[in-house]
Amino acid sequence: MTAHRITDMRVHCVSIPARAVHSHGSGDVGGINVALCELVTDSGLTGWGEASPWPVFTGTVDGNAAALHVHLRPHVVGRDAVLIEPILADAEQALVGHPEAKAALECALLDITGQIAGLPIAELVGGRHRDSIPLSFSVANPDFDADLEDVARIWDSGVRIFKLKTGFADHSFDLMRLEKLRAFYGDAIHLRIDYNQGLPAYDAIRLIRDLETFRPDFVEQPVRMREREALAAITRAVDVPIMADESVFDVRDALHGAQMRIADIFSLKTAKSGGIRRCLEIAAIARAAGIEVYGGCMFETSIAHMAGAHLMAAVPNLTLGCEFYMSTFYAEADLALAPFPVKDGYVHVPTSPGLGTTPDPDMLDRYRTHLFSSGEP
Ligand SMILES: [Mg+2]
Repeated sequence: MTAHRITDMRVHCVSIPARAVHSHGSGDVGGINVALCELVTDSGLTGWGEASPWPVFTGTVDGNAAALHVHLRPHVVGRDAVLIEPILADAEQALVGHPEAKAALECALLDITGQIAGLPIAELVGGRHRDSIPLSFSVANPDFDADLEDVARIWDSGVRIFKLKTGFADHSFDLMRLEKLRAFYGDAIHLRIDYNQGLPAYDAIRLIRDLETFRPDFVEQPVRMREREALAAITRAVDVPIMADESVFDVRDALHGAQMRIADIFSLKTAKSGGIRRCLEIAAIARAAGIEVYGGCMFETSIAHMAGAHLMAAVPNLTLGCEFYMSTFYAEADLALAPFPVKDGYVHVPTSPGLGTTPDPDMLDRYRTHLFSSGEP
């Protein structure tokens, strides 16, 4: 086998404004701030991956850029790009945490290896179970009238799943929004709820029971990430399925969460778990425990969305869809040369080798705030 030696890692910090502020139980977000990992080989191949942090949830762009540029670079440059798991094992040994940076590194390695093999990432990690995934849009604008206009526009594009971000204002505001959406769209709309840790644990069960009358598919992360006993108690007490997002980062969280039955569903995100392969390990634990999984996302460009699409194509069981909507419906612009493949309310999983997308150099120049490179020829 011919080696494809990695000669450089470039880290691009990127900041793209959003079309509107989105509010959550854990704070407001007005843009997409990520660090892209670009790997170059001596065989002329380039691979891309994205670290998509959120400071109140995972980490920071600065921290992830330093993780890649300073701490992980020595374990990557000079290696053969197909040695994905050995390189990731060294990365995990060299640096605690920073799962977003490790997800970016893994994605760039998979992108190159896929190009070498002539296979999409979904096939590299086991093969796709589906070619398309139902898409959810998150209703999170504190100006609900503006959100209703967005929902109508996105409904017309074919999306039928809407996730209401709750817990950032008062309970009556959440009830009012759910009532309006259910009354206007009837049974044709799939409604979900995400508190992003915004409910007080002592009163969460009563408040969630109030919402059950609007027949949500699930309620996501009602309480703080470390309040796992409360999450388990809520899951036992209410009828609506409960999803764990912030409470399940890595494989150990998933194992412990399954043993405690903290939730009925785990949200999979490459950024919080360190990549596609780690998410598939979490999906295996969930499957063994009778726990459903879901395609969640951070504040991402289509580079990270595409990694998520390959992941969710390769997950054996998937009934609740994904939320890779940022580049299509939230960001002011996207980086990729081709639009993220959303059509008629579904994400269409790419069939080209590797990641199946690459940044447009002009867009990268426009939105890049910093570039770190070793300068090695
Ligand atoms: Mg969430």
